[in-house]
Amino acid sequence: MPGEMGLIVVVGSFKRRNNPSMTIPAELLQRLAAAKSVTVLTGAGVSAESGVPTFRDAQTGLWAEFSPEELATPRAFQRNPRLVWEWYDWRRKLVAGAKPNAAHLALAEMQNLFLRFHLITQNVDGLHQRARSRNVIEIHGNITRTKCSEEGTIVSAWKDAGDVPPKCPACGGLLRPDVVWFEEPMPEPEMRQAMTASTRCDFFFSIGTSTVVYPAAALHSEALRSGATVVEINPQPTPFTGQAHFALAGAAGVVLPELMKALKAFRAS
Ligand code: NAD
Repeated sequence: MPGEMGLIVVVGSFKRRNNPSMTIPAELLQRLAAAKSVTVLTGAGVSAESGVPTFRDAQTGLWAEFSPEELATPRAFQRNPRLVWEWYDWRRKLVAGAKPNAAHLALAEMQNLFLRFHLITQNVDGLHQRARSRNVIEIHGNITRTKCSEEGTIVSAWKDAGDVPPKCPACGGLLRPDVVWFEEPMPEPEMRQAMTASTRCDFFFSIGTSTVVYPAAALHSEALRSGATVVEINPQPTPFTGQAHFALAGAAGVVLPELMKALKAFRAS
């Protein structure tokens, strides 16, 4: 147990969102530099600095009266498919206009520094791939893909007959985004890959995730149980903070570039 090893280190102040003067603990750098297999799990917080709101941020403008938890469910789609499609259409446009931030870029650089590297994301925005991360394991799907709500097949083109949502050209079923909604099962191959990557790594990062959305949140515990060093990066404490070996309090776009700089300096020393 990490607590018994007396290694829990919280660096930075959770009262300050960004902490540019953070010092990365030497113990963390030693362990990271020695790691052969690194696995990273990211959540919505990683894209926050690209202007993509997390589900915990209050919605603004047109969508202020709705909570994402009420829109991102199969029941919401059954009740009001038009509303759900339009909300995702708005998010799709927002994501298309967003750019990868310093956190995405640092993670794309990190993949080249280790023998084995896996990036698991709960994000559906494709920003990791746009930052040139390879083989990203997307456990909640991708907002840029569309599927038939009846058959589950991916649909890449359809006739615009004015229907909202549009209809599947093959069966006439309603089209929906290819994302995993609350209350829906996770995609099996991706979950299997994510579990293997979490249980077989020697270093695990949990970045920008509130650690309350299961089963993604179970990956941290699996990594811990398997003996990995676990580091959390988040400006706010989460239910997992006390179990992590190291908790770096700050925005991912600030902390990750600092960590990369410190790691390279440590390796060169
Ligand atoms: P979440 O549960 O992963 O919570 C967001 C976390 O990010 C919070 O703990 C918050 O403190 C932290 N955070 C905020 N700004 C940060 C920063 N700059 N750096 C690091 N951490 C930061 O995510 P959620 O918003 O509750 O979403 C739940 C699910 O909904 C996701 O897992 C995903 O499937 C979907 N979602 C995806 C996106 C996206 O693709 N960008 C955005 C919103 C929601």
